[in-house]
Amino acid sequence: MPHDSFDFTAFGSEVTGRMARGMEEARDAAEIAAVMAEIVASVEATLAREMAGAERALIACGPGCAACCVVNVTVLFPEAVAIAEYLRTAIGAGERGALATAIEDTAGKVRWMDDGERIRRHIPCPFLDPGGRCRIHHVRPLTCRAVTSTDPGACRLALDAAAGDEEEPLLMNLFQKFLVDTAFRGVAEGLARLGLDDRGCELTQSVATLLSRQ
Ligand code: SF4
Repeated sequence: MPHDSFDFTAFGSEVTGRMARGMEEARDAAEIAAVMAEIVASVEATLAREMAGAERALIACGPGCAACCVVNVTVLFPEAVAIAEYLRTAIGAGERGALATAIEDTAGKVRWMDDGERIRRHIPCPFLDPGGRCRIHHVRPLTCRAVTSTDPGACRLALDAAAGDEEEPLLMNLFQKFLVDTAFRGVAEGLARLGLDDRGCELTQSVATLLSRQ
């Protein structure tokens, strides 16, 4: 089995240490975003190193396929800060204003909504552009990075099943899923080590709250 020797425990501890050290030293939102960027870069570098081209070729996810971008996404505080910082620094004022309105609108709609109801009502992520691309691809949440599918058709079947509160199995790359989930838990443990809030919150609500404070 490929990846059998990969040490997820060591990787998670490394992420926890990085997050705890980074949050202790961070003086503002930009520095929190930089810590998060460092962790994401380490996740992406590990995926690039560990996954052979043939294994990557099986993953069907790519630009323009937004089949799964209609579910609630959970983020941790530093991830929401990184996204809000990206909107503040990398998106033009006009687009940022429209996006902030869309984020706030979605946050209001999906409050208290579970995945099944959100899929039934088809409330997409406000970060999708009209071509189905993620506007915050560089800083997208870890939860989004964990999802890989070998077949977009299977994703649609799984979403249809979830809309009816049923489950349909979905083939995905388990190494990528475990690695990104490990990073997510590592970030949460780094926050907990400092006594900070380590709970995950819905993406649009977290970002809308931060934008309202900028
Ligand atoms: S943040 Fe990007 S990848 Fe994640 S659900 Fe939204 S549009 Fe999709």
